[in-house]
Amino acid sequence: MRIYNTLSRRVEEFKPIKAGEVKLYTCGPTVYDHVHIGNLRTYIFEDILRRVLISNNFQVQHVMNITDVDDKTILRSKQEFPGEKPKQALGKLTRKYEELFYEDAYKVGIDFSHSKIIRATNHINDMRELIRRIPYKYTSDDGIYFDISQDKNYGTLVKLDRTHEHHRINNDEYDKDHVADFALWKTAEKDEPSWEFGIDGKNIAGRPGWHIECSAMSVKYLGQPFDIHTGGVDLIFPHHENEIAQSRAAINKPLANYFVHSEHLLVDGHKMSKTRANFYTLDNILTKGFDPLAFRVLTLQAHYRSQLNFTWESLDAAQSFLKRLQAWADLKFQPALGHKSNAGHNYDTVFKKLVRALSEDLNTAEALAEISKLVTQAESEGVVIEKLQPMLKKLDQALGLGLANRKDVSPQIKKLIFRREQARKNQNWSEADHLRDELANQGIDINDTPHGPVWSRA
Ligand code: AMP
Ligand code: ZN
Repeated sequence: MRIYNTLSRRVEEFKPIKAGEVKLYTCGPTVYDHVHIGNLRTYIFEDILRRVLISNNFQVQHVMNITDVDDKTILRSKQEFPGEKPKQALGKLTRKYEELFYEDAYKVGIDFSHSKIIRATNHINDMRELIRRIPYKYTSDDGIYFDISQDKNYGTLVKLDRTHEHHRINNDEYDKDHVADFALWKTAEKDEPSWEFGIDGKNIAGRPGWHIECSAMSVKYLGQPFDIHTGGVDLIFPHHENEIAQSRAAINKPLANYFVHSEHLLVDGHKMSKTRANFYTLDNILTKGFDPLAFRVLTLQAHYRSQLNFTWESLDAAQSFLKRLQAWADLKFQPALGHKSNAGHNYDTVFKKLVRALSEDLNTAEALAEISKLVTQAESEGVVIEKLQPMLKKLDQALGLGLANRKDVSPQIKKLIFRREQARKNQNWSEADHLRDELANQGIDINDTPHGPVWSRA
């Protein structure tokens, strides 16, 4: 398997630290609001990476954090729960959005069932311990800072202009053009949630900086170095640069061997923003009647390292493609089509090609093109039912398109289809047309093929 490594800026052969096993860490969501469709693109990419590793027979240990304390969560918790105690307000806000995140992720086919998902606030002590081990730090009135002027390795991921190195920055996220000392621990302001930190004979009531959260949690569950660290491109600097610096300063080993980043999703050619009114959540897509998996297909049609420009037209096209795949999957309920066809003799070859495409830096578009060929074949030849379901299961494992678990139509629909077929055989065309309309009203299209009628969901 080959994958692009941001550390080397090249596509590299993937070699795990321990043969057959992969330790994978994902920077998870900051749970202060609904995630947007850009965030979902990144989590879908990470889900695909995990699936491709499994398709390559690696045992994957996946860890993802939930950022449930940082500048944004604290600010929003004060706004949404005024009058509550700071930690309670923070807990209420972050649990709410964490749950909503899982719901969205599930709908777009992300499988977290084998992932270890951990909250920052449950690991404050691990963060204190890690901060204690970092030699390059100093305390100021607003917190404890990482001193990059002492760290000769700073700038592993990106080439940096170090002329600003004594500049100090108090925000979790900051101006990407400046190198700055960043907070490991932030002194709490009045009415902010805070944890005690006894260090160097002082006690600083405050909370961890954003970057230290991931460093502490990844080493705890995956060790250091671990194999692959993932996130969107905006995390390269400063977040991942800072994670690398602190972790190496504390433990004297690299943080991870591969850093893999996905490009951003744009909407109508622009960065999503609430003021531009081009900011979408999954709910905005669903209320327009789209299948959430259509969004997944849309993201898979592009390479993860290319920007993806979201438009309603492109989502529409992705949905049409998904419908074709679903109609193909639904052929397994339609024995009239089976047995006569030769389709399915090449499933193993096609699946191997698909895994090969995915294993070459996650070429999801080519993988979809391989499936499309199978669907075209089935559309003309029908399918061999016994061969179809095992293939759908393998495809789902690799791409998460939800094809294997689709439901048959109801007995009542089946009866209508049967009656229509009888009417046709008896050349009772008006009755047959009437029944076709009735089926259409119930969302079922009928296509008469040489092998018999085939239904599909409209
Ligand atoms: P956050 O909750 O802001 O830390 O972001 C969660 C994940 O979404 C991170 O991996 C980000 O890099 C990623 N992300 C943020 N904005 C976008 C976007 N417009 N397109 C794709 N990924 C994004
Ligand atoms: Zn992180």
